[in-house]
Formats: sequence, C-alpha cells, structure tokens
Amino acid sequence: MIGGMQDRPLRVTDLIDHAAREHGAREIVTRWADASVTRSSWAELAVDARRFASALVGLGMKPGDRIATLAMNHAHHLATWYGAAGMGGVLHTVNPRLFHEQLVYIINHAGGRVLLYDAMFAGLVEQLRPELTTIEHYVVFDGAGEGTFRALIDGVDGDFTWLGGDERDPCGLCYTSGTTGHPKGVLYEHRSNVLHALASLQPDVFDMTTRSVMLPVVPMFHANGWGIPFAAAMVGAKLVFSCTNDAGALWTLFREEGVTHSAGVPTVWLAMFADMDANGGDYGKLRRAVIGGSAAPRAMIERLMRAGIDVAHAWGMTETSPIGTVGSRPANWDELSFDEQVDIVVKQGSVPFGVELRTLNDDGTVLPRDGTSSGRLEVRGPWIIDTYFGDAGGPTIDQDGWFDTGDVAILHPDGVMQITDRAKDVIKSGGEWISSIELENAAVGCPGVAEAAAVGVHHPKWDERPLLLVIRKPDSSVSADDILAYLSDKVAKWWLPDEIKFVTELPHTATGKLLKRKLRDAYADYRLP
Ligand code: ADP
Repeated sequence: MIGGMQDRPLRVTDLIDHAAREHGAREIVTRWADASVTRSSWAELAVDARRFASALVGLGMKPGDRIATLAMNHAHHLATWYGAAGMGGVLHTVNPRLFHEQLVYIINHAGGRVLLYDAMFAGLVEQLRPELTTIEHYVVFDGAGEGTFRALIDGVDGDFTWLGGDERDPCGLCYTSGTTGHPKGVLYEHRSNVLHALASLQPDVFDMTTRSVMLPVVPMFHANGWGIPFAAAMVGAKLVFSCTNDAGALWTLFREEGVTHSAGVPTVWLAMFADMDANGGDYGKLRRAVIGGSAAPRAMIERLMRAGIDVAHAWGMTETSPIGTVGSRPANWDELSFDEQVDIVVKQGSVPFGVELRTLNDDGTVLPRDGTSSGRLEVRGPWIIDTYFGDAGGPTIDQDGWFDTGDVAILHPDGVMQITDRAKDVIKSGGEWISSIELENAAVGCPGVAEAAAVGVHHPKWDERPLLLVIRKPDSSVSADDILAYLSDKVAKWWLPDEIKFVTELPHTATGKLLKRKLRDAYADYRLP
C-alpha cells in the first residue's frame, strides 16, 4: 500500500512545546508556603524547563538517571517534570508525608542522583541525608542563593534541544503509598503519559479546555499528580498551585483566581467544608470537582451537586497513571431525579477508551457484568502497569495483560464500576462479605458524624463482625444508638456494626486515606461486646 501517516513518537516534551507555542501567555500561579503569590506562564515555564534540562546535563546527568523531588505543587516543581524528561531523565516524585524508613527505602531503591526539595522539608532532608546512598546533589526549590533551583538554572541559556527518543522511554517514577504493604515503584513512560493526558481531557473525565482554571489539590507526588501537569499543558489551561493545603488559603485562591476545576481526595473536601461552615464564603466559579483516591461519601457528593458543581468521582491507582474509571453521565442523565443522579455518582464510573475492566471470583472465573456479582477487579490498557521498577521478577500482569488491582468491585450492565472494598478490607461475616467502605460512607451521612472507619474484628461465630470507629463533629453529642438508627434503612440489617466506638482521631496514609491496616492491627485481639 502506498501512502500512510507520519511516525512521530509521543513524547511529553511535545506537550510543553505545544503549551508554550499555542497558549504561551496562559498563566501558572503559585501560592508559596510563605503566602506570597507568583505568576508565570506556559511560555516562561518552558524556558525554565529547558534551562533545568541543560543544568542537569551540566551536573553530569545521563539519560535514564532518576531526579528525585520532595516538593509540594508549584511552578518550579512543574518545570522539573518537563526538564528532567527533556534530557532523558526520570522524574521521581517522593511523598514527604511518608515515614522516615519508607522515605529512605524509596529514595535509595529509586537510586536518584539529584534531590530537589522545598525549604519546608529541609529538616526532613537533613534527617534523611546520612542514610541516602545515591544522591549526589541537593537543591532547594525556594530562594535564590547558592544551592537553590534559581541559582542552578539562572545563567543557563534556555535553548536546550530536547533529547528525542523512543516513546516507550521512561520519564516518571512514583511509588505506591503503601496502604497495603511495601512501597513499589511505578515507571511512567512518555507514551503512557501522553495517551493518559489525551484520555483525561475528555468531557466525561476532567473536562478541561483552554478556558479551564485548574487548581489541583492533589499533590504532584500522589500518583503522577493524577496526570494533571500533562493534561493541562495539552490544552493550555491556567494552573493554580498551592504549596499548603490550608483550607482557608485554598478558598481564597479558588475565589481570587476564578478556579473552575479542582481535583483531590475526599478528606480535602471534608476540611474545605469545615472551613466554609465556620467562615462562610462561596465556591467562586468552581464547576467541576474530581474526587478520587478513596470512595467519596454520598453526603459530600450531594453537597457539591446541590451547589451546582459537577462531581466526577474517579477510581484509579498509582499503577494506572492513575485514571481507571470516572463517573461519566449516562445518556438519560437529564431525565433522572437528583437522587437517581447521586446514585450514579457515588459509584466509581466507567472507563474512558483505552482501559478495560473485568472481575473474577476466587477460583479465577470471569464474572458477569450483572450489577450484583462482586469479585476481584482486574484492569489493562496502555497506561496500566506492566512491571514494577527494578522488579527482577518480571511483569506483574498475566499473559493477557490483566493487572490484579487488589480491589473488589461490581460491574454493572451499563459499564459502571462500583468498588465495594479493597480485598484486604472486606469484612467477612459468616461467609458473606460486608463492604467496609459502604458502611463507613453511610455513617458519614449521619448528622454529627465527622469521619468513620469500619473494620472487621474477630468473632467466634461469624468469623468477623464490623466495628465502627467514629469521630464526632465538634460540639456534637451523637450517640451509638443515633448512628445505628440512621444506618438501619441504609444498609442490610446484618451489616449493622456490632459496636460503635467514639475516637478522637483515625490513622491516615500519606495521601489522606484511612489506614485500615493500622486499624486492623490495633483491633486484632479486640473482643466485641
Ligand atoms: P495506595 O495503594 O498506596 O493507597 P494509590 O493511590 O495507588 O496508593 O491507591 C489506589 C487505591 O485507592 C485503589 O486500589 C483503591 O483501593 C483506592 N481508590 C482509589 N479511588 C477510589 C474510589 N473512587 N473509590 C474507592 N476506592 C478508591
């Protein structure tokens, strides 16, 4: 056949070039830890990224070398994502909220040669430094003196030519936060990031365009920053970054910068609501909130939807770049009542083109998509993991490309996926499964309940029974009986917790999720009444 199309590799550096060329003046705003606000643009960011790439080469970095960051969301951090990728490097975002041992393990395992960090983490870096075996250069993002990012790139010219190469070259590295065990590294490629960005812009996913003003509350170190640093460049959206997650500061940015789109885990919204309840104020121009990382409670979704905000409830993992499913609207959306619409949004949504899902029972049989069968969720696609970083054991997928997510889910006939639990968190009562997620999210709807966690506790007759741990809202005196009465028409009778205990705090992972493993350990020998 004579004829054909051009063979151009999909490289993330093309995204920043596109943003600089087509949307160069579109702003990138950063609110720094000291509350100062700076403004730059996609065009300026592209120059900084080239300078950074050139500086890395000057430090002796070679293609494939890992460049680590311990940093919040800001314009300099974004420049390092593109600059490292542009000289063939692999940008490794490290989650500063992890424990000391995990940080040492992750940074050494990744084998980075440069570590860039925010001044607010200087103390942490000093503690880690004696145990870091591969880092040769330490660079602080803040300020302009010796040893800073500015000093590194100022004076370097910005005409660096990106190192081209195969679209399958790696360019990013992110470790799972360890909710379920030892952290494992997920290596993102140029191609997977570009395809993921294309998919995530869709109206049914992030719904971002040039007119969007995106404030990602999700940190750039959490699961590839949910791909937002790449997707935003693809359309030249305005980006608004905050180095702190202080709810009051976030609201100010939302209102003053005209934020239309945001993305974050549910706990972020709990804090934002609490601030709004205490101090008043509105949502500004916000019209789309992407909530994911753990199941969004119904009450949270209702509150945002009542305010006229589109809630996109998303499911994904570090291993899925991370978009797996998003709560897209079905064809008959406009004919549905408010409650019916909320029923859809509380589920985790459907896949964009590129991702495939299936569920299996314990003996490996593929389950029907019947809206009732619940089993282990598997996923495959061009931005889904194949092999963990440095894993000599080889691929982590089966021969047909399916990756076992460790989640338990139901697939509905219309393609909607519903997470019922993590395989390790389901409460096994008398051979039947109780969804800890559903139980705790129902409880959070009860007036007076701020947060809740359901764990399976050993029971002599039923194997396990649910214990519900509850944090009361300030000034609330809600009782166990009130909560049981509230739950009685929300969940099956045999799901009702055997005991409700009031606590003042619950353990969270570094990314704000309930740390069930810790709770399970704490209540391993607990005797229910
Ligand atoms: P970690 O596994 O270290 O917590 P990830 O951020 O990769 O790090 O977490 C992915 C997991 O988070 C998923 O496997 C799933 O259990 C959970 N998760 C993500 N989004 C949702 C959601 N919308 N509803 C329920 N669970 C979710």
